[in-house]
Amino acid sequence: MTASSMPTEPVIHYRVVYSKRRKTLGIQVERDATLVVHAPEGIDPERIHAAVSAKGLWLYEKTRHAEKQREPPHPPGTELVSGESLLYLGHDYPIEIVDEPGYAIRFEDRFIIPRARAASGDSVFREWLQARARETILPRVRQEADALGVACGEVQITESRYRWGSCTPNGDLNFNWRLIKAPLFVIDYVIAHELAHLIEPNHGPRFWSIVRTRIVGLDKAKAWLKTHGSLLEQEL
Ligand SMILES: [Zn+2]
Repeated sequence: MTASSMPTEPVIHYRVVYSKRRKTLGIQVERDATLVVHAPEGIDPERIHAAVSAKGLWLYEKTRHAEKQREPPHPPGTELVSGESLLYLGHDYPIEIVDEPGYAIRFEDRFIIPRARAASGDSVFREWLQARARETILPRVRQEADALGVACGEVQITESRYRWGSCTPNGDLNFNWRLIKAPLFVIDYVIAHELAHLIEPNHGPRFWSIVRTRIVGLDKAKAWLKTHGSLLEQEL
């Protein structure tokens, strides 16, 4: 998804770090919401500006509205503790660490995690969420592809700091596992969005009319993704 429907180009402030070894541009939003561009030495500044502008609205939202972040993210690599909560399918659910034998995470309107598993940090939780993402998203993609009458290629659940979903010219689709944090109507919007690109590559009126026929709460879904863009940055 890109921000090509953005009406005006916002002013984006950023810092450039040049490196001799770098061959490509990398854009990073730091935890304090400052924007850092990593660039090869000697690159034309116009190209940096163009790359930053291309990320448009998403970066604008992240840097200007960082204060909108709803909760501090779980610090990467640290132990999960009771009282923290995690977003799953659009709801915040509390984490409860229990003194129980075993290792399995249970979900019963809260996350119940045996102490032994909590101690091993947040990676196990990531795996749990990634498995739910595969289980939830993949069948919905097939279903929606049938409804739209499009043939999609390989569908993968991926890891990305920039995108909720993407598609390739040969019809392969990628969906970010962090989408599992979003409500189902938002997940369905991202799926319909990427599949609609197989019919219409650009974000023109034809594209949006395809998506609109499939997604009732389209504007609400877009607004949710805009507000929660910072989730892409979080480890968990
Ligand atoms: Zn798009």
